[in-house]
Amino acid sequence: MTNPAFADKVGLVVGVANKRSISWAIARAVSAEGASLALTHQSVRLEENVRDLAAELTDPLILPCDVTSDAQIDEVFAAIDARYGGLDFLVHGAAFANPEDLSRPFVETSRAGFHLALDVSAYSLIALSRRAKPLMDKRGGGSILTLTYLGADRVFPNYNVMGVAKAALESAVRYLAADLGPSNIRVNAISAGPIKTLAAAGISGFSSILGTYRERAPLRRTVDTSEVAAAAVFLLGPAGSAVTGEVMMVDGGYHAMGI
Ligand code: NAP
Repeated sequence: MTNPAFADKVGLVVGVANKRSISWAIARAVSAEGASLALTHQSVRLEENVRDLAAELTDPLILPCDVTSDAQIDEVFAAIDARYGGLDFLVHGAAFANPEDLSRPFVETSRAGFHLALDVSAYSLIALSRRAKPLMDKRGGGSILTLTYLGADRVFPNYNVMGVAKAALESAVRYLAADLGPSNIRVNAISAGPIKTLAAAGISGFSSILGTYRERAPLRRTVDTSEVAAAAVFLLGPAGSAVTGEVMMVDGGYHAMGI
């Protein structure tokens, strides 16, 4: 029997809120391929959720991490270094915008709301990647993956400031890929089709976006988290070894359509 793709690999997964989270589907998929994982939870309120889910993983490290806190991010990487002595991959699945910025006209976005959305949803990838680099250097390289949406390029009703944050995130993927490539660290994004998760529930009219995909995407359906996870296994693992700076569309082909 061949070794699983992630045997002896250590990964950090940020952005598990509940069993519907895209990050959770990715955590399960890489764990099934042999990865050891550290998972984070944003708040004490969600710690129990994450611990309950993580019970099916093999000896995971569970840590608090609000990605707006540099001190908490430092503590996460110190704990991973202490437990595993290095890191092979990072999954970044954190995003947030104030609910009012996802329902009122975009032109009314406040300065504070803009800062918050960009900080949590885009800057955090840079903050995490910077701390991941020395641990990935200990392993001779690594792979970083974030999650984005087509709302970065095109206007979707009520996606608003999150679209701007995703545009910044996708650009950050390319700049990080350029910086970290010489250290054999790859940086990519998956642009997933719409999926009903906790974050999606915050976007007014999300069900009508789902309906549009069912009508117009070439595959005439939406995608599920296990399909995003399968693409993540490719990008994070050895099969994706020559791919970096990429935004991979996992959306049933919706992005290809003009109308
Ligand atoms: P989700 O389960 O709600 O995951 C979003 C995660 O971000 C939650 O774990 C949330 O924790 C976390 N988060 C928010 N603020 C944070 C902070 N300050 N520090 C740390 N974590 C924080 O929803 P999801 O749909 O799986 O989202 C995962 C990623 O996929 C996001 O980047 C999202 O934009 C992206 N995406 C989603 C879709 C979709 O249709 N669902 C499509 C394309 C891309 P809390 O719950 O504690 O706030």
